[in-house]
Amino acid sequence: MANDKVKVVIVGAGFGGLEAAKALRHADAEVVVIDRHNHHCFQPLLYQVATAALSPADIAWPIRHILRSQRNATVLMEKVLGIDAEERLVRAESGEVPYDYLVIAAGAQHSYFSHDEWAAYAPGLKRIEDATTIRRKILTAFERAELTQDNNEQQRLLTFVIVGGGATGVEMAGAIADVARQTLAADFRRTDPRRARIILIEAGSRVLPTFPPRLSDYVRKTLERSGVEVRTDTLVTDCDAQGVDLKNRRIDSETIIWAAGVTASPAAQWLGAETDASGRVKVAKDLSAPDNPNIFVIGDTASVLDEQGRPVPGIAPAAKQMANTSQKLSMRALPDRSSRARSGMYISGISQPLAAGLRW
Ligand SMILES: Cc1cc2nc3c(=O)[nH]c(=O)nc-3n(C[C@H](O)[C@H](O)[C@H](O)COP(=O)(O)OP(=O)(O)OC[C@H]3O[C@@H](n4cnc5c(N)ncnc54)[C@H](O)[C@@H]3O)c2cc1C
Repeated sequence: MANDKVKVVIVGAGFGGLEAAKALRHADAEVVVIDRHNHHCFQPLLYQVATAALSPADIAWPIRHILRSQRNATVLMEKVLGIDAEERLVRAESGEVPYDYLVIAAGAQHSYFSHDEWAAYAPGLKRIEDATTIRRKILTAFERAELTQDNNEQQRLLTFVIVGGGATGVEMAGAIADVARQTLAADFRRTDPRRARIILIEAGSRVLPTFPPRLSDYVRKTLERSGVEVRTDTLVTDCDAQGVDLKNRRIDSETIIWAAGVTASPAAQWLGAETDASGRVKVAKDLSAPDNPNIFVIGDTASVLDEQGRPVPGIAPAAKQMANTSQKLSMRALPDRSSRARSGMYISGISQPLAAGLRW
């Protein structure tokens, strides 16, 4: 039997995509959620997995399990490669998926500022695999420091460099300091984990540059009290397997963690759309893609200004709120059975308190 229901395809099952799918639970529509992974990852706790405080299963849940009771939702594990907006098709690795409405919530990825070769030495923290890679590197460095007889090599193994003083870098530096000074302090005999150097490098003049300066000061002092060396106004010029180069000196280190930058998913290329400096699609006020009123772009992959004209930050509550906004807009056109949608509720843009206050 032919299915003549309106088809809403959602690309990405992160914070935005999942929320968008759930917002359509009462819609008389077929909802297809496509993600390249079979699990949703709670990214705010990735640093805990990276420092062995949590296991991967504590922060990842199967997408189809989350949506199992939503009868109108189908989950496909697929990597999306492009969009044919004219034919209304999502191009994925194993074929094409047609849509009437499309929500793109494909998030963001690491950016090495045109030095992708550094990725091999300085993993970023975005996915579960990144967290387990970093965890392995950290724990192996302590193990190898216990084995070596060479003092210089031991110090190199016990030197941890975190590049980028934003929220992720600050969290990682603090967590590694805890591991070295507390968790592992009594576990080794030939080396003392408390001798570990944890160096946080930030190109700008303060850590947490998007937060108020007094918070940056507070965080810097707290990190320094826990033994982290904080170096601001410091630019990394190269990374390799043995360490990092700064403008005027070198730091030998086995473990380098990249927390310096993100860029949006390739959604803008898929759509041929204009972007901001971070590669995010500049969407209309109703979150639709330029010239494509049936395509909505949300979350970390969308460039949106709040009512004060400030960019909405890339944080989970913003992605969720955009998901609800876009779905309420698209549901106006859908044969929706929910009382909420029948009431014609309509949110325009992103609320001012969200964009102003919720910065991680
Ligand atoms: C380490 C870290 C810590 C953070 N801490 C906080 C915090 O404390 N508080 C906070 O509010 N925010 C935090 N954030 C930011 C927050 O996680 C993001 O703003 C939020 O995840 C954005 O939601 P999203 O739906 O836009 O994208 P994501 O949640 O990133 O979801 C994107 C989804 O798209 C899928 N995808 C991407 N490309 C494709 C493709 N080609 N084909 C198929 N699927 C694809 C991905 O697999 C992923 O599931 C943190 C982020 C990181 C990395």
